[in-house]
Amino acid sequence: MSFVDYSDADAWLSYLAQVDRTTPFLGSLVRWVETLKRPKRAVVVDVPIQRDDGTIDHFEGYRVHHNTSRGPAKGGIRFHQDATLSEVMALAAWMTIKNAVVGLPYGGGKGAVRVDPAKLSRTELERLTRRYTIEIANIIGPDRDIPAPDVNTNAQVMAWMMDAYALTKGQVVSGVVTGKPIELGGSLGRKDATGEGVYIAAREITARLGQGLDNQKIAIQGFGNVGSAAARSFAQAGARIVAVQDIDGALFCEDGLDVELLSRHKANSGSILGSGTGTEITREQFWLADIDILVPAAIEGQITANIARTIEAKLVVEGANGPTTPEADAILTERGVTVVPDVLANAGGVIVSYFEWVQDHSSYFWREAEVRHKLGQMLTDACDAVWRAHLEHGVTLRDAAYILGCRRVLEAREQRGLYL
Ligand code: NAD
Repeated sequence: MSFVDYSDADAWLSYLAQVDRTTPFLGSLVRWVETLKRPKRAVVVDVPIQRDDGTIDHFEGYRVHHNTSRGPAKGGIRFHQDATLSEVMALAAWMTIKNAVVGLPYGGGKGAVRVDPAKLSRTELERLTRRYTIEIANIIGPDRDIPAPDVNTNAQVMAWMMDAYALTKGQVVSGVVTGKPIELGGSLGRKDATGEGVYIAAREITARLGQGLDNQKIAIQGFGNVGSAAARSFAQAGARIVAVQDIDGALFCEDGLDVELLSRHKANSGSILGSGTGTEITREQFWLADIDILVPAAIEGQITANIARTIEAKLVVEGANGPTTPEADAILTERGVTVVPDVLANAGGVIVSYFEWVQDHSSYFWREAEVRHKLGQMLTDACDAVWRAHLEHGVTLRDAAYILGCRRVLEAREQRGLYL
């Protein structure tokens, strides 16, 4: 029985169902499993800001520490008009599992402000970020909870967060957030790390399936930080990005879209449309395109049962968090489509966030080649561990990753014990 009724919370309920699927594989650790089914701490804050015209607006903010058994909470901050506490709880829980799957010394956290940032001016966005940071300042910190960018937040937002936090402490605390600008203690290679990690995970899993990525036809939903960086990595490896869908439309090109041109156009105009590469298709045509690999890199719940029944792809690599509904996941499995789960496929971002945190602690910064090399090693090791669990237990890659992640968290929980 949960202490709060979240019966309308799709993402959180699907996380709970996923944990339940691991219980037959937990052995004596099952005694501790309830730990994973409740957030350790969930904070809801009021974020009032003065608009440029002098009026006052209030927004709801959240920060959730799902679990801190393996270390401080770690996870991004998103600004989105549909964010809810239960969604943030699920996102924080997925971070707990992800950090454990890739072996980072972190628990899981996540935060959000329920706002459409496109409707704020730059100065309003800065005031919102600073006010939200102050409201959660007593639960974040370099050894307590380390936020990072997520949907609609970026290095500039992290710089404001770091500055606001530093003002509360009277000293610079660069390790309080990751994904910062390089000049403020950010890490080389962080910006593209999640997308590059999506590519690495796809490469490692296809290799274990006895396949390669050369000339593979790829569709990407969401051409933001993760989607565009993944597109560049796939294209560099010889794959063809034949279809892209973003918030305002979709594009197709049989020979492969010009990813560099598209990235520049999106950065300059905010849209994928009108760049001159590819032809416009409908959102429905995007899902029906003749492709080998699908990379959802937008938001949760995008691959529904209907889409799962009809997609051509034989491989889905989850750049986004929670993009596949549980019903769709079962259909994909039944159809023999391999799904590389989010907790593995998009872990590149938090891995390089970890590297940034380590560099900040020692004030000694690495070359980009070193960052990328270490990212490749860590993610390859994690793919290997998940693949072995998949073979050992005869389960999907998602179930295998959860078995691995849940076990690691619960082992830490058991070793720490309870304060009696
Ligand atoms: P972003 O804001 O940079 O990009 C998201 C993109 O998706 C935008 O271009 C937006 O227009 C598009 N989009 C949003 N809703 C859409 C819809 N319904 N249909 C089509 N396109 C839509 O965000 P991001 O940082 O790239 O994050 C994308 C996903 O990856 C999220 O699920 C996030 O949690 C996950 N993720 C991000 C990171 C990171 O380091 N940024 C790390 C791990 C996971």
